[in-house]
Amino acid sequence: MSKKYVYLFSEGNANMRELLGGKGANLAEMTNIGMPVPQGFTISTEACTRYYEDGEKIAPEIEAEIFEYLAKMEALVGKKFGDKENPLLVSVRSGARASMPGMMDTILNLGINDDVAATLAAKSGNVRWAYDSYRRFIMMFSDVAMGYDRLKFEAIMDELKEKRGVATDAGLTAEDMQEMVERFKVLYKELAGVEFPTDPKVQLMAAVRAVFGSWMNERAIAYRRMNDIPSSWGTAVNVQMMVFGNMGDDCGTGVAFSRDPATGENKLYGEFLMNAQGEDVVAGIRTPQTIDQLHETNAAAYDQFAAVAKNLEKHYKDMQDMEFTIEQGKLYMLQTRNGKRTAQAALKVAVDMVNEGLCTKEEALLKIDPNSINALLHPRFDEAALKKAKPVATGLAASPGAGCGAVYFTAEDVKKHAKNGPTLLVRSFTSPEDIEGMAAAKGILTATGGRTSHAAVVARGMGACCVAGCGALRIHEDEKYLTIGDIRVNEGEVMSIDGNTGNVYVGAIPTVDATISGDFAVVMGWADSIRKLHVRTNADTPRDAANAVRLGAEGIGLTRTEHMFFDADRIPAMREMILSTDVEHRAAALAKLLPMQRGDFEGIFKAMEGRPVTIRLLDPPLHEFLPTADEDIKALADEMGLTFDYVKGTILSLHENNPMMGFRGCRLPVKYPEIAEMQTRAIIEAAINVKNECGYDIVPEIMIPLTCEFKELKYVSNIVKATAEAVKAEKSSDLKYLVGTMIEIPRAALTADEIAKEAEFFSFGTNDLTQMTFGFSRDDAGSFLPSYYEKQIFDNDPFERIDQVGVGKLVDMAVKLGRATRPDIHLGICGEHGGEPSSVDFCHRVGLDYVSCSPFRVPIARMAAAQAQIKNPRA
Ligand code: PEP
Ligand code: MG
Repeated sequence: MSKKYVYLFSEGNANMRELLGGKGANLAEMTNIGMPVPQGFTISTEACTRYYEDGEKIAPEIEAEIFEYLAKMEALVGKKFGDKENPLLVSVRSGARASMPGMMDTILNLGINDDVAATLAAKSGNVRWAYDSYRRFIMMFSDVAMGYDRLKFEAIMDELKEKRGVATDAGLTAEDMQEMVERFKVLYKELAGVEFPTDPKVQLMAAVRAVFGSWMNERAIAYRRMNDIPSSWGTAVNVQMMVFGNMGDDCGTGVAFSRDPATGENKLYGEFLMNAQGEDVVAGIRTPQTIDQLHETNAAAYDQFAAVAKNLEKHYKDMQDMEFTIEQGKLYMLQTRNGKRTAQAALKVAVDMVNEGLCTKEEALLKIDPNSINALLHPRFDEAALKKAKPVATGLAASPGAGCGAVYFTAEDVKKHAKNGPTLLVRSFTSPEDIEGMAAAKGILTATGGRTSHAAVVARGMGACCVAGCGALRIHEDEKYLTIGDIRVNEGEVMSIDGNTGNVYVGAIPTVDATISGDFAVVMGWADSIRKLHVRTNADTPRDAANAVRLGAEGIGLTRTEHMFFDADRIPAMREMILSTDVEHRAAALAKLLPMQRGDFEGIFKAMEGRPVTIRLLDPPLHEFLPTADEDIKALADEMGLTFDYVKGTILSLHENNPMMGFRGCRLPVKYPEIAEMQTRAIIEAAINVKNECGYDIVPEIMIPLTCEFKELKYVSNIVKATAEAVKAEKSSDLKYLVGTMIEIPRAALTADEIAKEAEFFSFGTNDLTQMTFGFSRDDAGSFLPSYYEKQIFDNDPFERIDQVGVGKLVDMAVKLGRATRPDIHLGICGEHGGEPSSVDFCHRVGLDYVSCSPFRVPIARMAAAQAQIKNPRA
């Protein structure tokens, strides 16, 4: 039997997302549980993959199968494509496995032509509707399937509106619609060189190709990269019988959430437009009415919708985001999916649903996107400053948070200027092309559009703050300024927007740090009680350490000591040490650094209050500490009583072609043991002092970086141990300490059984391990990695998400080899990956004891670790 590529809605279910896409699987599920869903079929994601395998062509057998299912659908609904009596019109929509709102294409009213439009007009007695549907189809088909500029069509509509003196398309008559259809067809012929296609089957196949093609459009690629969606998934295509929201005043269309996606409040939240089609609401072009007003307009439809929403929530055990159409008073469901929500709403929905008995804590935790927590950790406006500030306008509070930055009027400009400081993206309305600018901005402000407009939905998904539909706002994009009444703000000037109230301010308002309380604290408590993986932080200062503890860090997994040497008052001693002509001079310079280092470590041990602290010995290449300009070199030489030539010569001798693979890490103490001696002394003295002073039970973990060989580690470890023992003896202390190493070089992973003979712990430095495994410089890969995404060689940045296939294999191997030698070896990760959810999941599965990440990612890692345990329980 040949492979099946097409499924009637009645043949699928919610578990078939991979094959049918999210939209298709949910349409099938809703059909099967008796929801009012117009009939249709789904062309699978495998057909999309085939389309690309076959060189962007739809294979004849797939086309035949599509027509076979079209016939089945026609039989089910009693209508036929192009029929004179009962013509069938369909919508054609994309639907990937993961929802990608607005990123791909939709075509409505497909199947219409001159004869069909005449039939629809005659049968319904509603000429305006028939030709409104027709003109919409020509426009969408031209834009989506053919790639013609939509604005050219809109210009015709605008011209007609102006001629008739009406503000919106609702003011246009049946004759206007007919005129528009004729003019659109003329324009189409001008653009295409051929007549507009009248055969519905030809229209259908062009639409299916367009949806498959849209999987590879620029905005879809960008969205996938931002949301970790592999390009190999492909999109399904849903072909569904049209129901009409634009047939008259007893018709309408809307989008609603079963709970408030901004706050999580348990009440219907959404918008609708009477006498309109779905695109009008989502595009945010006309400002719609709130869902509560539907109650007044059509109580029966409202009640039915409210009941459907509750049932769907119960069925899916999650908040739903639904699209519906009312055709002549009757409700139809066109889509449901788990709703995107702000982090704040995610927490409230999770806590409420557990309290309402709708789901378990574990199920609730899995609904929270760990990355979204980030938004809760962003600053809010300072209350006192906010009270004093006077809003100049108010829009809809579409996505919470505080946004403050220089205003720019295009996504391009935001992207360009975001590097230099915080920006706000200000637009009339946003469209999917703006996605990268939206991601780069601190906040998004739009003049039109409602709470479910593109800007609002995408901003909530990203955790960016958004004020939408700010009616007082006028944007003069070409001249690069905006006005609100008689206030003028030029490009680059600062404004503030409050996503919680919708208020808009001119100028900057100061912000304050977030705290973990309320629902946030409850949910994090659940996560902590479930997870097996510990979460530490990378912190180099007492301030960062204290901040991380506040965010739930259980220890420090990495203190990079080099940062402490860059301070203006320390760098002279550091330079003296590097430029020393002999051991005595080096020892003298190090003696100056010792009390400073000891003070640093005392501060960190105090901030950590007895929690474990891993301190890494000096790691970077020494030349990083030395000046490069001749005048600075001369000043340094004078200061140190050395000749310019000597200092310049030493600096030149330290020059390396590949410094990241050069004289750094444990190679430094192999050549200059004094450095490790001084640092060990500072660590042990600080630990003993703080232990004596505060009574904390401190067990410092001394970490040797960049090991590649057992004997090398042993050499440095011996220096560390000898120094530590000497200090303990001097101070009559019985302090315990650990000596371990970083696994950052593939050879260390490959020989981890040997290394573990000396190391009491391993910390995977996956920044260097990724660099060394791929042979990609971590500092320079940014210049060529974008080509890898474009060409689909990589789906994402291996420095961001751990490469589980390659680097992960080394980690897994090192874990097993290390434990074979030393069963109680303590294992962690301190590369940037330690705070990235998919990497945390990997660390859990591979059996690490902890992850360590930057302070602000600690709550994300805690959540990701809990989810990892729920998905793959570990003893
Ligand atoms: C690493 O390489 O992963 C690491 C944590 O060390 P650094 O980033 O300081 O090289
Ligand atoms: Mg490193």
